[in-house]
Amino acid sequence: MDKQAVRHTLEQLAAFLELKGENPFRVRAFQTAARAVAGYPGDLAQAAATGALRRLKGVGPATADVVRELFAAGRSSALDELREHVPPGLVEMLRIPGLGVAKVRQIHDRLGIDSLGELEAAAGDGRLAALPRFGAKTADNVRRGIAYLRQSSGLRLFHHARDEIEGVRRALAALDGVLRVEVAGAVRRHCEVIRELDLVAVHAGEGARAALVERLGRAPGVTEIAGRAGAVTLRFASGTVVEVLLTTPARFGLDWIRATGSLDHVVALEARDRAAGVSLTADWPDEESVYRALGLPWIPPELREGSGELEAAADGRLPRLVTQRDLRGFLHCHSNYSDGTVTVAEWAEACAAAGYEWVGITDHSKSAAYAGGLRAEDVARQHAEIDAVNRDRTGIRVLKGVEADILADGTLDYGPQVLDRFDFVIGSIHARFGMSEAEMTARVLAAMDDPHLTILGHPTGRLLLQREPYAIDLEQVLAKAAARRIAVEVNADPHRLDLDWRMARRARELGVTISIGADAHSTAGITNVAVGLGIARKGWLEAAEVLNTRDAEGFLAFGRTRRTRAA
Ligand SMILES: [Zn+2]
Ligand SMILES: [Zn+2]
Repeated sequence: MDKQAVRHTLEQLAAFLELKGENPFRVRAFQTAARAVAGYPGDLAQAAATGALRRLKGVGPATADVVRELFAAGRSSALDELREHVPPGLVEMLRIPGLGVAKVRQIHDRLGIDSLGELEAAAGDGRLAALPRFGAKTADNVRRGIAYLRQSSGLRLFHHARDEIEGVRRALAALDGVLRVEVAGAVRRHCEVIRELDLVAVHAGEGARAALVERLGRAPGVTEIAGRAGAVTLRFASGTVVEVLLTTPARFGLDWIRATGSLDHVVALEARDRAAGVSLTADWPDEESVYRALGLPWIPPELREGSGELEAAADGRLPRLVTQRDLRGFLHCHSNYSDGTVTVAEWAEACAAAGYEWVGITDHSKSAAYAGGLRAEDVARQHAEIDAVNRDRTGIRVLKGVEADILADGTLDYGPQVLDRFDFVIGSIHARFGMSEAEMTARVLAAMDDPHLTILGHPTGRLLLQREPYAIDLEQVLAKAAARRIAVEVNADPHRLDLDWRMARRARELGVTISIGADAHSTAGITNVAVGLGIARKGWLEAAEVLNTRDAEGFLAFGRTRRTRAA
């Protein structure tokens, strides 16, 4: 605990209080105290312990208590208490230039938004611009503000990195003298967050390299180029930095493997190379020939993390990874009955067009007031609408699902009578994240005793680069999911990707069925599936282990078995 951490805590207290609509004098007291503490010349811990802090101008009794507790216990119970009531995403929104407390509260109250990711979506699809006192310009500023916050942290989400690198890849592919450009690095391995962007560019031969480097430096948007042997770093006006490995057709295979990584994977390959006595310094035009020379089948990039994939490949135990073509059902989407923008008929239309055989609509349940959760009396209305759509259109089947809140005591929102009317139930936690690990684990394990539960939704509640997972013992949860035959979701929202791929792999070992949930709130969210699929593949999953690969009857039977067994 240092001065800056204390200052940060006091500032957070002020921000939380302000968002909660507390007395402005209390808010200002913490803001003033934060500055005073940061400027304190002496030993803060000692001043807090002896009470000398109270004599510092700007520090009142409430602040002194907070600081004393911070040094004694490493945390502030006042802040913990506020965290229970104010979504931390709202505090982050305050860091966006131009968004003050009044606007953030308006966004939260009117749109039910409590994270940067959701705010970004609303700024993109017109919801934000439609709010009173906002407009298109403010929405645009918000979007840029969020992009700035992300970039300044140096890490970005997979889908942003993928789109960014793909833009650069296309620009470089159009340059004279470039025979081929491919995405490499963490994007190719489908990591959930990305720091570095890597490409491999192929030119005709050593003689052509200098001219190519010259052209790269003059490529559209490039403001800076730094070179070392065989690789250049390009900095773009947008702030994007891309590492480009330059190679020739003869060496492409090996260089693509090297540029893709991970470092652990490449090191393990080289060790195998030394053992096999094959020289990886020779020419290798494609990846397959490199792996083959080492006595291995080609290893999909998602698996190249240096965590047992070489051994599995050598023993013929590599999984046959699930592909988009295997997916027959589209799961976890919100309609205009809760916080989605899409009607039931539009979901059917869009999912049919995307090639799915069935779609499971899952609006929020009644406790999710923040998301306009479906009241029990609206359930019948929505089900009649789904029946009508199923009558009127062929080619796709709409299933009646719900994303029911797992309440603090572990019961599912609505209760058994209403839940009985749904084809399947996703159970998710959307509130009370602050429980201890033991309490949270007990809460989820209790929910799994309900025979209505088909799928456990976003099991840790994490928001990548925004919110840590809540404390939970996933090992226990996954073991119970396997025993009770409850599917566990890989939530495909690029901000969540929850289960994490490492735990998806563990789930597979335990025999848990995985469901890929789009968590889409508009038809644009259909593209989430590709991101979630990459995570499922990274978790070594095969088609048979993924719930969405079943046909509608097979999927319904999965949930039904639990209910009838319980009855
Ligand atoms: Zn949810
Ligand atoms: Zn959802």
